[in-house]
Amino acid sequence: RLEVRNLTRRFDGQTVVDDVSFSIEAGQVSCLLGPSGCGKSTTLRMIAGVDMQDEGTIHVDGKLVCDTVFRVPPERRAIGLMFQDFALFPHLTVAENVAFGLKEGDRTRRVEELLERVSLSGFGPKYPHELSGGEQQRVALARALAPRPRILLMDEPFSGLDERLRDGIRDDTLELLKEEGTAVLLVTHEPHEAMRMADEILLMRKGRIVQRGAPYNIYNAPVDREAAAFFSDIN
Ligand code: ATP
Ligand code: MG
Repeated sequence: RLEVRNLTRRFDGQTVVDDVSFSIEAGQVSCLLGPSGCGKSTTLRMIAGVDMQDEGTIHVDGKLVCDTVFRVPPERRAIGLMFQDFALFPHLTVAENVAFGLKEGDRTRRVEELLERVSLSGFGPKYPHELSGGEQQRVALARALAPRPRILLMDEPFSGLDERLRDGIRDDTLELLKEEGTAVLLVTHEPHEAMRMADEILLMRKGRIVQRGAPYNIYNAPVDREAAAFFSDIN
């Protein structure tokens, strides 16, 4: 469970993330949805620990991970990351990419299990450049889930993929996330993606959460005209 309270971030006197509070639960996919520049990635970077907030606190499973003076380093937060450019290690094989950061113990079994779950059994010895974009995306997902993070942060993970393949990959990804039971915070600027994947949508605008709720409820009862317009061009 991730809990964010009063998170605020300023750059050059501009408030980019403005008093943001929300929580997400294990087994749930929450979508941070909003137009370009509204502060989504900045929010994610603070939760990941690669940027520091000016105000507010972050808790994972009830434990304080970060306030304005105390900070657990990114690698000790039990938070997995998956960003737009999947950034697999090019000089490591698929299996080595997924195994990266795992302890000896059940490493081989976990890698095999995950590659099978993303339908890439047998791809272990290949290198990233030998894979298609969709296959690389699935390896990146397997790698992010391998250490069993409590929280998975995903920043526009499907944006580099062929439009025609995206919905299929979204559905497959969702199925795996549900099986793993991870709490997921997925960033997107596409209402369609949020509608398809989210248990809950956090609608963001100019650094603030302006509405939160089930996709169906937000779609049917947008908080204002601007929110309605944002959802109107959904396909
Ligand atoms: P997109 O959908 O385009 O990815 P976003 O919602 O993720 O947008 P952010 O990347 O969080 O937006 O940026 C929010 C605002 O903060 C932008 O106006 C951006 O220019 C500004 N910003 C982000 N990082 C910095 C930084 N390191 N220094 C100065 N300004 C920044
Ligand atoms: Mg962004």
